[in-house]
Amino acid sequence: MSPASTHDAVVIGAGPAGTSAALALARRGWAVAIVEKSAFPRRKVCGEYISASNLALLERLEIGDAWRAEAGPEIRRVGLFSGDARVEASMPGVTSRPAAGDGFGRALGRDILDSLLLDAARSAGAEVFQPCRAVAIERDGACQAVRIQTGAGNSRDETKILRAPVIIAAHGSWEPGELPSQLEKKSHPSDLLGFKAHFTGSTLPPDLMPLLTFPGGYGGMVLADHGRLSISCCIRRDVLARLRASHAREHGGRVSAAETIEHHLRTTCRGARDALEQARLEGPWLAAGPIRPGIRASYERDIFRVGNVAGESHPIIAEGISMALQSGWLLALELGAATGGQTGREAAGRRYQAAWRGLFSTRVLAAEAIARIALGHGGAAMMRTVVRNFPQALTLGARLSGKTRAVPGFG
Ligand SMILES: Cc1cc2nc3c(=O)[nH]c(=O)nc-3n(C[C@H](O)[C@H](O)[C@H](O)COP(=O)(O)OP(=O)(O)OC[C@H]3O[C@@H](n4cnc5c(N)ncnc54)[C@H](O)[C@@H]3O)c2cc1C
Repeated sequence: MSPASTHDAVVIGAGPAGTSAALALARRGWAVAIVEKSAFPRRKVCGEYISASNLALLERLEIGDAWRAEAGPEIRRVGLFSGDARVEASMPGVTSRPAAGDGFGRALGRDILDSLLLDAARSAGAEVFQPCRAVAIERDGACQAVRIQTGAGNSRDETKILRAPVIIAAHGSWEPGELPSQLEKKSHPSDLLGFKAHFTGSTLPPDLMPLLTFPGGYGGMVLADHGRLSISCCIRRDVLARLRASHAREHGGRVSAAETIEHHLRTTCRGARDALEQARLEGPWLAAGPIRPGIRASYERDIFRVGNVAGESHPIIAEGISMALQSGWLLALELGAATGGQTGREAAGRRYQAAWRGLFSTRVLAAEAIARIALGHGGAAMMRTVVRNFPQALTLGARLSGKTRAVPGFG
């Protein structure tokens, strides 16, 4: 085992939550370590859409220009593709924008976005340990010690200890593990499993982001960078198992979950079928989950939590990246202002948790309500009827999901 090193904060996970917190703290002069288990660039299950409300924050994170240069087209319309129905309405724009042309959200592949953010954190002074997996957190006097293993996959060859008074869990919520901040692994038939793929050559209108509903799940499509269509969805575990079994019977032999999902989308959702008709799959389908929507502790057992670990909305509203970026930033503001050692940090933890709930609870609850309707018996048919008669319900849903809500301190 190599000798222990000491930092002011150790951040576990270099998704948008971890990099945003690490960058903001490093810029305040903190000695920050960021530990990421995967080598970048890496693809990730995610729809990759970012609301315009984050642009001022992306600017502060020093990736505003790169994001504008790389991201896909502005998304000015929101839609519903469900069965044979295709309904569209305006996406609510963000009005208090600092720069022209920044009023609408856009999508950028996570392979690109997460690399940009991590490079920015590194440039701000964060020390990056990658690929390195955090495998334990233990109390060590006034500090905590994070045990990390270097190397990706099975090729872990060295164990190292990083010590810091502040530990920030930013490792997401979908993978089980031994850390006290990781969620317990439970498996239920009603679990939602996440899938995502990129296609090129799609005919989806470039300014439209439709919500997809299909038996057993929901999803979304959006044109991202370099002409890539990002398609992502969630499906119930039990429905997927049934579909796979019947698909395998029809075709003889084993059928992959990815083949089953793609077939299901194409056969049950006309809008998805039309958009994919001429399109080519780029890279493999990815899977993750089960996803864990809900509001959790933002500070517990002396560990600060940001992004999905602190709480997660159903991806039906495509707000997870926003919540991750913003929660990392919020935590850094509170920690940066904290004085008085452990007592000061605990007070910062309480203030951060209150701020988290004030900012994100409504969208977690709105997403839960929309997802319940989409997944419930007869729910998709009801959605079709409502939005056919009142397409503005889609605009209202986008507003309720926080797409126009300014980040505190950014006007
Ligand atoms: C189907 C689907 C579609 C979605 N679509 C959208 C969308 O369009 N827009 C949107 O805003 N959100 C979307 N989301 C949600 C979004 O992907 C997440 O909310 C977001 O990625 C959370 O960011 P995070 O930084 O908290 O965690 P993550 O992005 O999950 O990052 C966590 C990082 O921690 C690393 N890690 C994990 N464990 C360890 C460990 N032990 N040691 C070191 N590193 C570790 C991981 O490798 C990863 O890089 C979607 C989600 C799903 C399932």
